[in-house]
Amino acid sequence: MSHKTDVIIIGAGPVGLFAVFELGLLNLKCHLVDNLDKVGGQCSELYPEKHIYDIPAYPTITGQELTDNLILQIKPFEPVFHLNQQAENIKKVEGGWMLTTSQNIIIEAKCIVVAAGAGSFVSRKPPLENIAEFENKSIFYAIRDKSKFKGKKIIIAGGGDSALDWTNDLASIASSNSTTVVSAQKATMANLSVQGIGYEPELVGSIFGTDVNSISAPITGNNAVYVVEVIAIDDEKLEGNFSQQKTNIVNQASSAANGQSYNALKETANVQDNRSDFY
Ligand SMILES: Cc1cc2nc3c(=O)[nH]c(=O)nc-3n(C[C@H](O)[C@H](O)[C@H](O)COP(=O)(O)OP(=O)(O)OC[C@H]3O[C@@H](n4cnc5c(N)ncnc54)[C@H](O)[C@@H]3O)c2cc1C
Repeated sequence: MSHKTDVIIIGAGPVGLFAVFELGLLNLKCHLVDNLDKVGGQCSELYPEKHIYDIPAYPTITGQELTDNLILQIKPFEPVFHLNQQAENIKKVEGGWMLTTSQNIIIEAKCIVVAAGAGSFVSRKPPLENIAEFENKSIFYAIRDKSKFKGKKIIIAGGGDSALDWTNDLASIASSNSTTVVSAQKATMANLSVQGIGYEPELVGSIFGTDVNSISAPITGNNAVYVVEVIAIDDEKLEGNFSQQKTNIVNQASSAANGQSYNALKETANVQDNRSDFY
């Protein structure tokens, strides 16, 4: 399908939307192309319910309210939206430009406004194993519905402006005591339990793998997810009897290996286990 218009705008974020208004005042018609399934760019996709405090004349307004107002403001200019598609190719043609989208829509216009903001954005995921299993269940990269977090214990990973904004925003609905800080005086490799927490081998290992005065990445433990700040490490030689730890770990590994090899054999050999019918 092909279209002709005055201006093509790549990106339907707040800048692209307001460009429709300014161009509309000059009597120019616009077509907007956006990769997302909705207009509003970062405001609608990443923080529709977060409050923004730096929009003139609005002491506070959420990302979605700002988008809704912009849509209302440009309605008289009848912009045409091509959503769910990337602006892929731009070619100079006589009298202007020809843009082709990833859905093979062709738009010709006298000029193109690039309002691509942060670009076609994707989440920067922390390097955690099996993270996909938890995504959109207990790990979120954007908050689209605050009510999901009501009464929940929330950890916000990150230390930038947004982390602070969301801390302010969510503090009133999160459950109290959401974070427990335990000061472990003497974590030692000889003891895989941490005082005040319990048996946590991964946590103990990570404590010794974290530099002094730095904060670890999240550690998935037996009972919780931990973040560790190491304040000091003694140079003292490791002392202690590790035979009990060794026996525990060997026992755990061997019973896990038994179970896993049994399951692997069962899957590969496609054997049906009917023993429970006879015992
Ligand atoms: C969590 C968070 C909180 C923020 N809080 C604030 C705040 O409180 N106050 C504040 O002033 N700013 C805040 N910002 C920043 C603000 O959202 C951005 O400055 C603003 O969205 C930029 O608007 P934009 O229209 O230029 O770009 P964007 O909002 O990034 O929109 C660009 C659009 O272009 C589309 N696009 C890009 N490339 C293509 C392509 N090739 N084809 C098709 N579509 C394409 C994208 O899909 C996107 O929808 C925040 C940002 C984030 C992430």
